[in-house]
Amino acid sequence: MTDVCIVGAGPAGISAALYVLRGGFSCTIIENGAGALEKAALIENYYGFAEPITGAKLAHHGKAQAARLGAQFVRGEVVSLLPDEAGGFALGLADGAVLTARTLVLAAGSPRKSPKIPGLAELEGHGVSYCAVCDAFFYRKKAVAVLGFGAYAKEEAAHLLPMAASVTLLTNGEGAGADFPENVQIRTQTVEAVLGDGHVTGVQLAGGVTVPVDGVFVAYGSAGSADLARKIGAVVEGNTIVTDALGATNIPGLYAAGDCVGGTLQVAKAVCDGMTVGLSLGRFLRKEA
Ligand SMILES: Cc1cc2nc3c(=O)[nH]c(=O)nc-3n(C[C@H](O)[C@H](O)[C@H](O)COP(=O)(O)OP(=O)(O)OC[C@H]3O[C@@H](n4cnc5c(N)ncnc54)[C@H](O)[C@@H]3O)c2cc1C
Repeated sequence: MTDVCIVGAGPAGISAALYVLRGGFSCTIIENGAGALEKAALIENYYGFAEPITGAKLAHHGKAQAARLGAQFVRGEVVSLLPDEAGGFALGLADGAVLTARTLVLAAGSPRKSPKIPGLAELEGHGVSYCAVCDAFFYRKKAVAVLGFGAYAKEEAAHLLPMAASVTLLTNGEGAGADFPENVQIRTQTVEAVLGDGHVTGVQLAGGVTVPVDGVFVAYGSAGSADLARKIGAVVEGNTIVTDALGATNIPGLYAAGDCVGGTLQVAKAVCDGMTVGLSLGRFLRKEA
């Protein structure tokens, strides 16, 4: 079991790792492809570079720095998060691997965007959910849909299948992106609307098809920081994880940093958040030991 697991190898996650590693703790960083930094063509407002630097190059430097200090990198998509029996955290990856850690930092960047489908935002909390682990129980013997595709949608469907009367995957024009169990009905048409007056009653698909469902679980793309936080009971406001001044959430040992905690979405702020969390973790782990 690693002392610290960090989900995200952007400036927030890497900055946290630098302080954790230099504090003498073991650290595993999980990353799943390009974050916001790697998408930035040129950065010229970050300290220390006389000439603009590409986001990809800055990200590469950061990862190399953490690797030199002993960080273990794992490439994979985190799709589930549960408390571990030993009092830490257990992270499930899309390939089925499970990593355990004494403490956890969520630094997976700004939350993914939900598709703009009429009714989706309006019915959030009234049949539209972003967390199957949290809400599957409310849909016992009811018909539900998972809006999404790929490993994360498959994970959400797996939580719903034992409870719900039926699970329909709505890919909204995308491919399924994973092998779903046979009892998940797959519909690939565009979703035109989530229907319901006060509570979800169905979804309207392109071509005039209406699918009656009582709940729609959104798992569009990969799990964002807020999705993972919700799974373990951390307080989330909208898509922002709520932390105190030390970067701590309401769950002991769970911290968050960078774009996922809101504020100014810039590299310098993400690095600062990472530093705060890295130092807080050192204090937390020393007290715990
Ligand atoms: C186009 C663009 C231009 C920008 N230009 C500037 C600029 O000029 N100056 C500036 O200061 N800021 C700029 N920004 C903002 C800056 O890039 C972000 O504020 C910063 O990168 C946030 O850092 P982060 O560590 O929170 O997240 P990110 O950099 O987004 O890193 C997120 C990490 O989480 C990982 N991840 C996500 N989901 C999962 C999962 N489910 N499992 C495992 N890993 C996961 C990703 O692989 C990635 O490693 C720009 C952003 C964009 C998109």
